[in-house]
Amino acid sequence: MAERDYYEILGVGKNATDEEIKKAYRGLAKKYHPDISKEPNAEEKFKEVQKAYDCLSDPQKRSNYDQFGSEEANPFGQGGAGFSGFGGFEDIFSSFFGGGRTSRRNPNAPQKGKDLRTNITLTFEEAAFGVKKEINLHRYEQCTMCGGTGAHSKNDIQTCTRCHGSGTVVVEQNTILGRIQTQTTCPECRGKGQKILHTCSNCRGEGKIRKEAKISVNVPSGIDDEQTLRLSGQGEAGINGGPSGDLYINIRVKEHEFFQRDGNDIYVELPLTFSQAALGCTIEVETLNGKVAMKVPAGTQSATKFKLSGNGIKNQSSGRTGNQYVIVKVITPSKLTNEQKELFTKLSKTNETASNSIFDKVKKFFSKK
Ligand SMILES: [Zn+2]
Ligand SMILES: [Zn+2]
Repeated sequence: MAERDYYEILGVGKNATDEEIKKAYRGLAKKYHPDISKEPNAEEKFKEVQKAYDCLSDPQKRSNYDQFGSEEANPFGQGGAGFSGFGGFEDIFSSFFGGGRTSRRNPNAPQKGKDLRTNITLTFEEAAFGVKKEINLHRYEQCTMCGGTGAHSKNDIQTCTRCHGSGTVVVEQNTILGRIQTQTTCPECRGKGQKILHTCSNCRGEGKIRKEAKISVNVPSGIDDEQTLRLSGQGEAGINGGPSGDLYINIRVKEHEFFQRDGNDIYVELPLTFSQAALGCTIEVETLNGKVAMKVPAGTQSATKFKLSGNGIKNQSSGRTGNQYVIVKVITPSKLTNEQKELFTKLSKTNETASNSIFDKVKKFFSKK
C-alpha cells in the first residue's frame, strides 16, 4: 500500500505557492473533518491531508520531499534504504507489519510482575540502629483460586484453533512490491494464544487480584537518608507464571535535635563556659550509646574538635563503625553579676602580662607595619 504523492493529495501542482497549498488544505480539511464530514473514510482522508500539509507547508521538509521523496533530510543515511516517491522505507515497512511491530513476544511466555515503589520515614535513631517496620500497600497478587490462569478450571483453557497458540497469524497482502506475507495479531484470541471458556469467578478472568498487603521490612542499621531498599519478589504478581516484581523502598531520615550525621560519623556541638575551656574539665557528652565522659584539657579553644572513637553508627551493610566528633563552642557570658564583673576585670589585668601565643603573634604582625 504505497502512499499517494503529497501534491496529489492536496490537489495542487508541484510549483504551487505556499498560499495555494494553504488554501487547498483548508478546503480539504473542512471536507474531511471527522466531526462534520459524511464522506466514507473521512478520518483516514483527513489524516492523509494533514500529513501532506505538515510536510508541504514547511519549506525545509518540502525541499527534502522534492529531492528525496521524504521529509527527512537524508533518508538514505538514516534507515539505510530509501524509496523515492512513496514516503520512505519505514512507511512501507510499517504497513506490512501492522503498525511497525516487527517482532512479537510469545503471548504465553512468563513475564516478571511490575516493580512497586514506596517511601518510609525513619527517626535518626531508627536509621542508626536499624528497625523492623510494617508497610501496608496495595498490589496485584496472583489469584489463588485459579493460580493466575483466569480460568474456572483447567478444562476451560483451550488453545486457540485459529493460531494454534502462537497468538499470531500470517495473512497475505497484495502490495506494490508483489504478494507479501505478513504476520499479525490473531484476531480470534487477540494474541493470547488461548481461549477461556469459563472465567474464574474470583478474579473475573484477570488471573490477579488487587489486595492490601502487609509487608514486614528489616531496615538494616546505618541506612541513610535517600537510600533505597529493594525487597525482591515483593512487587506485583508475574504473568504466565513469571516471577513477581520487586518492591523499592525509598528511605527518608528525620533530622535529630542535637546530632548531625555524615556517613557513619556523628557530629555534636558542645557549649563550654570560659572557665571550663580555660581551666579544663571532664564533661559528660551524649552519644548514641549513652553518656560518655570526655576530658577537655586546659586552654581549649572554641571550635576544637574531639573524637570519641567508635561512638558513631554501626553500619550493618558495610560492617564499619563510625566515630562521634564533639566540636566545642566557648560561650562568652552576656550577663554578668557585679562579682563576676570584678573577677573579669582582675582577669583582664593579668591577661596583659600572661603569655598568650596567638595574642603575641597578632601583636608582632601589626607592629611590623
Ligand atoms: Zn489465536
Ligand atoms: Zn482467578
